[in-house]
Amino acid sequence: PLYTDLPENGLIVLIGASGAGKSTLAGTWHASQVLSLDGLRGAVSDDPGWQDATADAADVLKLILERRMARKLNTVIDATNVEQSVRVELVMAAKRHGMPTVAVIVATSLPVCLERQGPRPDTRRVPQDIVRAQHQAMTHSHQRLAAEGFNTVVFADTLYRLEPLLKRLSE
Ligand code: ATP
Ligand code: MG
Repeated sequence: PLYTDLPENGLIVLIGASGAGKSTLAGTWHASQVLSLDGLRGAVSDDPGWQDATADAADVLKLILERRMARKLNTVIDATNVEQSVRVELVMAAKRHGMPTVAVIVATSLPVCLERQGPRPDTRRVPQDIVRAQHQAMTHSHQRLAAEGFNTVVFADTLYRLEPLLKRLSE
């Protein structure tokens, strides 16, 4: 079945390995609603792929998320979000402001995630063993999400909003 029941305004946490298609899906929302960890790494360091900038980028992400939740604005988190501790902080920010929370699992198969690293420039290519670990963590996260406080847990490929995008990609 196709899910059409995402809240109009909430916190949407994308969960998936590198190459799964998170940023592609995030592109179906208005750019101002998307907090991209890569984008914020670029904002604080001039290099979206510079891993040393991750902590600073995550600080900025949390700050913007807090201010957006206070305004009840729909917000999409474009990062791997495969670690429970990361997700719990995001959910807490939403709950502080009474905003509904949605986990969107982007469960693209590991071979496809790995294959999609190939054409990327060096600075955007994630090493194989890291992609593999992210994929495994994504798989294990599924059963925990409801207990973490997510109001809704969906798989990306059941989202109605993906349809026009898939049509465009197949043309
Ligand atoms: P990262 O965590 O490294 O940023 P990501 O999850 O954001 O990765 P994307 O950059 O969105 O992954 O997607 C990787 C590649 O897969 C892109 O070239 C994109 O065009 C392609 N892609 C994404 N989603 C789909 C889809 N549903 N069907 C076909 N191709 C897709
Ligand atoms: Mg991305």
